[in-house]
Amino acid sequence: MTELAERIKNLPPYLFARIDGKIAAAKAKGIDVISLGIGDPDLPTPKNIVDKMAAEVHNPAHHQYPSYAGMLSFRQAVAEWHRRRGGVELDPQTEVLTLIGSKEGIAHISFCYINPGDVALVPDPGYPVYEIGCMLAGGESYKMPLLAENGFLPVFEDIPAAVVKRAKLLFLNYPNNPTSAVADGAFFRKAIAFAQANDIIICHDAAYSEIGFDGYKPVSFLEMPGGKEAGIEFNSLSKAYNMTGWRIAWAAGRHDVIRALGTVKSNIDSGAFQAVQAAGIEALLGPQDNIARMCAVYQERRDIVVEALNGMGWRLEKPKAAVYVWAPVPKGFTSESFAEFVLEKAGVVVTPGNGYGAAGEGYIRITLTIDTELLREALRRMEDSLGSVTF
Ligand SMILES: *Cc1c(COP(=O)(O)O)cnc(C)c1O
Repeated sequence: MTELAERIKNLPPYLFARIDGKIAAAKAKGIDVISLGIGDPDLPTPKNIVDKMAAEVHNPAHHQYPSYAGMLSFRQAVAEWHRRRGGVELDPQTEVLTLIGSKEGIAHISFCYINPGDVALVPDPGYPVYEIGCMLAGGESYKMPLLAENGFLPVFEDIPAAVVKRAKLLFLNYPNNPTSAVADGAFFRKAIAFAQANDIIICHDAAYSEIGFDGYKPVSFLEMPGGKEAGIEFNSLSKAYNMTGWRIAWAAGRHDVIRALGTVKSNIDSGAFQAVQAAGIEALLGPQDNIARMCAVYQERRDIVVEALNGMGWRLEKPKAAVYVWAPVPKGFTSESFAEFVLEKAGVVVTPGNGYGAAGEGYIRITLTIDTELLREALRRMEDSLGSVTF
């Protein structure tokens, strides 16, 4: 067989592909499985957006290649959305780039700045794409541990000076996947000062920016003084508007970084389907009431999960944002052994925290993106099979 390139050979199997194997094995044994694994919104895309798409798909102008940077009207809608949301002023021509989902932008940004020997600072635990993009570009990742005692925020002073010297990109993600932790303005100001002092570009992944609970509204780092000069923010319609399948997102911020990302992309892809961009404009500038309704659904589920787990012996605080509950495993278990135990005994899939990095060991992640009644059923089963747990 033809030998694979090293960069592919070095890739770990994508986390959820590995879990799918375990689910298939459990199903083969006759276990009825409920998955609390993947963070893919179960609620449908709002009707106004679907209707807009249905109309736009008939327009023959959309059937041709889109413009590389995205339709100017979509980028203008993004700029207007940021203005309304947090008073951020962006030039849609130079400071906004349309993406085919933020995952591709996050993967491609390393190709803009990482040479062999260069470093990307990545959160651990974290969304695997930060590290994988850097690896594919031939660079090295330095894992910044996100620890409970630090509110799951990285501590920049702990990064060795020799690593900081080689670092070109700093990936951050708040509200955070998988921990659901949030970052305040003070943290982002610290990150901006650190990045500026060391000539590092901040890449903030704000995929969960619209999902906050109990009145909490997540902060955009572009709102901070110097934010727009310190790097870019990735944002996506996937989670905010239940549009994961549509593949539409954007990057916004520092103009030379936006230009570099656009250069890589224009040589690789040919832009997002324009009908999807038109539907995206409707999402960003049309009625926003679906966001409050969606947050209310997730908040109820968050309460169900945290209260059920605390009833079994956990002592969890309720997360303020995102769609995850990040819970330590009981005494005597590892992330993997507990996830396997819950799958075998309760037929419930939870994600082992070590899948997001070594610092995720000792945790599991439960998602809130599942029908509320099924979620209750999963928790009943966990309670029946676990009884009470100790830590
Ligand atoms: C879901 C998610 C995204 C969004 O990805 P898209 O490609 O825009 O669908 C980005 N980052 C994190 C951490 C996520 O969980």
